[in-house]
Amino acid sequence: MVEKGQLILYPTFMEDFYSKEKLFERVYNYSKRYLPYKLLSRLGLGNVFPQKASEFLVIFGLNSSFAGLVYLLALLLEKSIDKSPLYITGLIMVVISAVLTGLHSALLTSTLIFFEVYLLTNFSKTELDLSLYIQLTFFISGAIIVSYLIDLTRGNGEVKRLKDREKRYADSFIKLHDQYSLATQAIKSRDEFLSLVSHELKTPLTVMLLNLHGTLNSIKSASLANFSVPQLMKVLRNCEQQIKWLTEIINDLLDISLITTGRMSLKLENSDLVALTREVEQSFSELLKKEKIKLKINASSPVSGRWDKVRIKQMITNILSNAIKYGEGKPINIQISGNGSHGKLIIQDQGVGIDPREQKIIFDLFKRAPDQEKYQKGLGVGLFITSQIVKMHGGRINVASIPKKGSTFTIELPFNKH
Ligand code: ADP
Repeated sequence: MVEKGQLILYPTFMEDFYSKEKLFERVYNYSKRYLPYKLLSRLGLGNVFPQKASEFLVIFGLNSSFAGLVYLLALLLEKSIDKSPLYITGLIMVVISAVLTGLHSALLTSTLIFFEVYLLTNFSKTELDLSLYIQLTFFISGAIIVSYLIDLTRGNGEVKRLKDREKRYADSFIKLHDQYSLATQAIKSRDEFLSLVSHELKTPLTVMLLNLHGTLNSIKSASLANFSVPQLMKVLRNCEQQIKWLTEIINDLLDISLITTGRMSLKLENSDLVALTREVEQSFSELLKKEKIKLKINASSPVSGRWDKVRIKQMITNILSNAIKYGEGKPINIQISGNGSHGKLIIQDQGVGIDPREQKIIFDLFKRAPDQEKYQKGLGVGLFITSQIVKMHGGRINVASIPKKGSTFTIELPFNKH
């Protein structure tokens, strides 16, 4: 319901476009230009609250205009015997007034119209006209009932609208809250990632610095005879390894920035998945030999499609290096096949496996399964980059794993990206 004294001066459908306060503000600003406020302040009325002043102006201005219109009509119909058009017009004015400004304003309009009609029709008469009183009583009671009913529906509409609005606000609040939680989570993950990255960048640098420092000291203090070439080679090899690791981290960071800003593009060309896998296997051969890990590739024929060679090799490298890292030295199997439309690559290890809950998040950015800290080196970004490469090729990646039994990563790549 509309509260006592509450004025709604605009049709309901305009609610979202025009607020009541704005309308009053405008009227007030307008009146400031034309009303002698200085004079009013001299009379002690200068501190009239602006909104109240504009409300007053609107309610009386509007009703007076309505009543003025009826007055003009009454003048025209003065000579007419049947006054019903006058009452109908008056009632229309009251209805408009009730719809636009509410019950109080509609009552004010009917009262004004009542007095105007009364004064006008009785102006020159001396005796009492009973039929006029009856007509006016009918008019005023009709106007009150109509205004009340309109105000009631307006009130109900208002409640419904407020409820709708409340629901909308509640929905957006829930949405905002969810977004806030996600953003907080993302910021937390990013901060953890940054501290991890700083640590990972610092470690190889410290190792290199210590090695070089030691070597320089040996050269400076001890005689060169005590400093052997194999020793120097060992230091240099170590430095080379650390630099390779640093380059990998920096490349991963660059890839993340390319992916998250949507700037990673593919250079699609005819490629053979089997040949690319063998190339990756070759790059791991030394490590596999050193770690005594058996790697078997099952692939009968070339599996060719239009893929980005560099990115596909990067994808295989990421999954194979994980299989080695988390594979506990046990054999690794790779299977490559093709059907009518897709190439399929399965990399299977028999290592630590992944907890079912963690399987859902390992493809997310900055996510590592807990308890993996013992497997040195890892930013938790390899699988994110891999899944993005697969996605960009229009393919699919998934994992099946049983803790302590091993993991199987399956990648399907369409021969032609649509
Ligand atoms: P990381 O650099 O930590 O290996 P990845 O994005 O490559 O990052 O992998 C995310 C996480 O998924 C790893 O931290 C690890 O917990 C888990 N994971 C990935 N591959 C395997 C695997 N073959 N076996 C067990 N866990 C794996």
